[in-house]
Amino acid sequence: MFKALIVDKDEAGQTHATVQDITLDRLPAAEVTVAVEYSTVNYKDGLCIGPGGGLVRNYPHIPGIDFAGTVEASDDPRYKAGDKVVLTGWRVGEAHWGGYSQKARVKADWLVPLPDGLTTRQAMAVGTAGFTAMLAVMALEDHGIKAGPVLVTGAAGGVGSVATAILAHLGYKVAAVTGRPETADYLTSLGATQIVAREELAETVKRPLEGETWGGCVDAVGGAMLARVLGQMEYGASVAAVGLAGGATLPATVIPFLLRGVNLLGIDSVMQPYDNRVRAWARIAKDLPMDKLDAMIQPATLSDLPQLGADILAGKVKGRVVVDVNA
Ligand code: NDP
Repeated sequence: MFKALIVDKDEAGQTHATVQDITLDRLPAAEVTVAVEYSTVNYKDGLCIGPGGGLVRNYPHIPGIDFAGTVEASDDPRYKAGDKVVLTGWRVGEAHWGGYSQKARVKADWLVPLPDGLTTRQAMAVGTAGFTAMLAVMALEDHGIKAGPVLVTGAAGGVGSVATAILAHLGYKVAAVTGRPETADYLTSLGATQIVAREELAETVKRPLEGETWGGCVDAVGGAMLARVLGQMEYGASVAAVGLAGGATLPATVIPFLLRGVNLLGIDSVMQPYDNRVRAWARIAKDLPMDKLDAMIQPATLSDLPQLGADILAGKVKGRVVVDVNA
């Protein structure tokens, strides 16, 4: 028997999340069984712990879109018992049972060997949010970061915190946008050189172009804020669009693209091919200072998850929640 957070639906369609003892035979069939050590809380996990938000295919369900742990058994020659592994993406925790469990069974293709220099706990302090932040930084680098500060929106959240720390470590000036002024010291400790109040970017677009201010942007917020930011980018600069914490509708004009050559780069962490995942994890181990990562961690256990799921949807989580599934 082992413990897992099971989300089930009652006859009235209400979901309930409870920690239960279950047996291995209940896990979905796949090549590799992993003894999970850590998982995390991402925005999608908040949706999957609650009513599903269209992400969960079948109930009962085990959420947890990422995990790190040790291979217990493998039918695939690429992995053997004792190997340390990390998983993000591939709709694990959505369409397939995920990491809020002391054991998980997944396809070998979905796993990545734990990169040198990272523990399983550090890998999950990074987790899907941090992995995505790294993908966003790599996309900005590929298109060229201009002279001005790099703007990070939703900065006190998971993606934003890791993006801020990586960009600062790489030597860029980072302007961190937050709606929580009390996180200013935290964001400065991660390396932000400027704090921008969310309200400053909250007004809808009045003029399609404003002053050329930002040399690049990692955007976790989307919506009206992204539309506004597009008109403030330097000529030829890029926005790596990661999320929609502030809304999915983009009330923008085409003018920043036509008259300033702005690039809008979509970042998807879910279906990244194996080589890209290995490359991004290697960069994380190299370019994310571990003392800053430690400062982002909020520890949690399986029984904390129902509350944390609600908190992340309400934008109340700071940094990265690391779930010790064996605590
Ligand atoms: P978090 O909840 O940790 O962070 C989101 C942050 O956005 C909040 O902390 C808050 O930051 C800000 N925010 C929240 N609501 C609003 C609002 N209404 N208006 C403006 N700002 C707001 O989530 P994550 O960092 O884990 O994820 C961020 C987004 O990225 C989500 O939409 C998520 O689904 C998406 N995502 C996408 C991935 C991909 O592959 N493309 C992978 C991972 C995440 P502050 O308090 O500082 O203002």
